Amino acid sequence: MKLTEENFEDIRWGVMCKEITLCETCDTVFKYSPNRKFCDVCKRKRKRAYERKPERKEKRKEYDRLRNLRKKEGRQNATG
Ligand SMILES: [Zn+2]
Repeated sequence: MKLTEENFEDIRWGVMCKEITLCETCDTVFKYSPNRKFCDVCKRKRKRAYERKPERKEKRKEYDRLRNLRKKEGRQNATG
């Protein structure tokens, strides 16, 4: 459901009664749940945006580097 001029009053009332919530970014209406501010679509989008953050990428790179290093070391030890 989306917020429109016709259902604005109903939605406002529903929000006040904590029966439904309006998504903060796209005005989609979804069932009320404590601490929930975004609809499923926006939640997914936000999660994806978070994973694309440069610092997350750096961490991932560092993790890959360490893993490769460990692999190499393992091989060296095995060949003696
Ligand atoms: Zn949304």
